[in-house]
Amino acid sequence: MANFTEERVLDVHHWTDTLFSFRTTRDPGFRFRNGEFTMMGLAGAEKPLLRAYSVASANYEENLEFFSIKVPDGPLTSRLQHLKIGDSVMVGRKATGTLVIDNLKDGRNLYLIGTGTGLAPFLSVIKDPATYERFEKIVLLHGCRRVAELAYGELITERLPQDELIGEMVSSQLIYFPTVTRDPFRNRGRITDLITSGKLFSEIALPTLEPAHDRVMICGSPALLADTKQLLVDGGFVEGNHGEPGDFVVEKAFAER
Ligand SMILES: Cc1cc2nc3c(=O)[nH]c(=O)nc-3n(C[C@H](O)[C@H](O)[C@H](O)COP(=O)(O)OP(=O)(O)OC[C@H]3O[C@@H](n4cnc5c(N)ncnc54)[C@H](O)[C@@H]3O)c2cc1C
Repeated sequence: MANFTEERVLDVHHWTDTLFSFRTTRDPGFRFRNGEFTMMGLAGAEKPLLRAYSVASANYEENLEFFSIKVPDGPLTSRLQHLKIGDSVMVGRKATGTLVIDNLKDGRNLYLIGTGTGLAPFLSVIKDPATYERFEKIVLLHGCRRVAELAYGELITERLPQDELIGEMVSSQLIYFPTVTRDPFRNRGRITDLITSGKLFSEIALPTLEPAHDRVMICGSPALLADTKQLLVDGGFVEGNHGEPGDFVVEKAFAER
């Protein structure tokens, strides 16, 4: 059996000239945990061109959704950005990844820290009822350079609170905190600076991060990962992984070439 299935594109949405999302059919046999990634890409003359992609839809949804960068000279995304409804994409049969709530110890509040397309895994985590059952408040931080790059804001603030399955939990437990570094906006600055200065906590009216109570998931650039990880380790947080749940988990949103 091939390691991937061929899925059909159902919908494409361009957020900016560097970011887009698309929805595809889903093989009924494709199982994943919310927060995981799979291999996804396009068929090629000899072999498919595949890259790691977080699944942005929840594991109970009928279709798959992906949130993608457009790298102008990127082998995959220079082509993928031209996807049209009805086109085919290849999707791996297996999913994996560290950004799953099972890799975290029990705690009070869960912080999801994503920059750029690093938001993608958290879109599925915030749709999971189990997330709201395990944690009191879920704080979703999305950092970008420009306001236009804050994709999915309307889903998070308008549609999810109305959702039949999770609407009530989202309304009472999810705190969405988008922030940008290069445009005027209500929240400005790098996520790590907002944490260290304490500004984040006064804005969202929660106590500052404490390993005894708080759990954190991070997905972003290698630089964001390094900075945030350091900040947490200095604060006494212990990293978790598949073998051993911890106070925080990290995943690269992309690898440097
Ligand atoms: C675990 C994991 C999960 C990932 N999930 C996603 C996802 O959900 N959405 C997504 O768009 N990409 C994701 N990526 C990155 C993805 O695998 C590819 O790198 C991306 O699709 C670009 O492919 P490419 O062949 O066009 O260029 P590549 O040759 O893969 O990348 C070229 C360069 O572009 C930059 N770059 C690549 N991806 C990104 C990105 N997402 N944001 C900012 N800069 C980037 C890097 O500098 C990279 O070195 C993930 C990567 C990993 C390791």
